[in-house]
Amino acid sequence: MKQEIRTKFCDLLGEENVLIDEPMSRHTTFRIGGPADYFLIPRSCEEIGSILKICKEEKLPYFILGNGSNLLVSDLGYRGVIIQMYRNLSEIKIEGTNIRAASGALLSTIAATAKNASLGGFEFAGGIPGTLGGAVVMNAGAYGGEMKDVIQEATVMTQEGEILCIPVDELAMGYRTSVVKTAGYLVLEAVISLKEADQEEIKARMRELTEKRTSKQPLEYPSAGSTFKRPEGYFAGKLIMDSGLRGYRVGGAQVSEKHCGFVINTGNACAKDVRDLMEDVIDKVRDKFGVTLEPEVKFLGEF
Ligand SMILES: Cc1cc2nc3c(=O)[nH]c(=O)nc-3n(C[C@H](O)[C@H](O)[C@H](O)COP(=O)(O)OP(=O)(O)OC[C@H]3O[C@@H](n4cnc5c(N)ncnc54)[C@H](O)[C@@H]3O)c2cc1C
Repeated sequence: MKQEIRTKFCDLLGEENVLIDEPMSRHTTFRIGGPADYFLIPRSCEEIGSILKICKEEKLPYFILGNGSNLLVSDLGYRGVIIQMYRNLSEIKIEGTNIRAASGALLSTIAATAKNASLGGFEFAGGIPGTLGGAVVMNAGAYGGEMKDVIQEATVMTQEGEILCIPVDELAMGYRTSVVKTAGYLVLEAVISLKEADQEEIKARMRELTEKRTSKQPLEYPSAGSTFKRPEGYFAGKLIMDSGLRGYRVGGAQVSEKHCGFVINTGNACAKDVRDLMEDVIDKVRDKFGVTLEPEVKFLGEF
């Protein structure tokens, strides 16, 4: 059965774009995750549409992968199809003061393109290690900026393969959410609306934010960034620190000593270590402060 399905995908995408039992630890910034049954690397919207059709026919679940920077994949991996947007779908075009980019483009590359074209307003996103698609879904944000402030529209594919162009005011982008997330759409591309600005000022702002990140965040370790959402009226990192959990470990997973809002992989953590540690953190913070932390990181596979 697996061989038959593999053949269908190979006919569509070419053998080099179909990986079987691919370790997800190679595709997540946590460097954690067991094998995915099928790992596909499409080159066009048409190919994506055809993949969704095959998944429907074969009753296979699928998951859209950006850069895997907000993801914890189970040690058992994923029994379905991973569709990787990041490798082949990353074209970036400048259109006046707008940037139109495919969903697999990295935010850092878009930020560098904007800087080179003297377009300001995207500096906040340059240090977020995700793709445009992942950032639209999550309404990624940093240092006072959010994707919803700069996105003009997004082109998405519905689960039925229909293509829709959605203006920002209909994307319902809120704190780490959007209609793309709630409706299970797949982002194909988005238009980012920027303003002409002085290139030296853009560079200085980007440098300042990079310094802030490197001094405050444990970028020397694999992680998925802030592990928990910011609870209303609090900071997750501070609650965790004030619960005495700085440096708390389960197996190879640890609450970062540098920034308690990050869970890091100290080298040999498995997904279960991270998950167990997160559960301990949630329990201890609830006991001490009566606040229930919610994971920001997405879980994929069985735990
Ligand atoms: C060191 C570090 C620092 C970080 N700092 C920040 C920060 O400052 N601010 C912030 O907001 N986040 C931050 N993050 C988290 C992460 O980078 C963001 O959430 C980012 O937007 C995730 O993008 P991704 O492409 O890696 O998505 P993935 O992790 O691959 O996927 C995340 C979710 O988006 C979905 N998805 C991805 N692409 C698409 C698509 N094209 N269409 C539909 N769904 C899609 C996936 O299915 C999944 O549900 C940080 C992470 C790390 C490791």
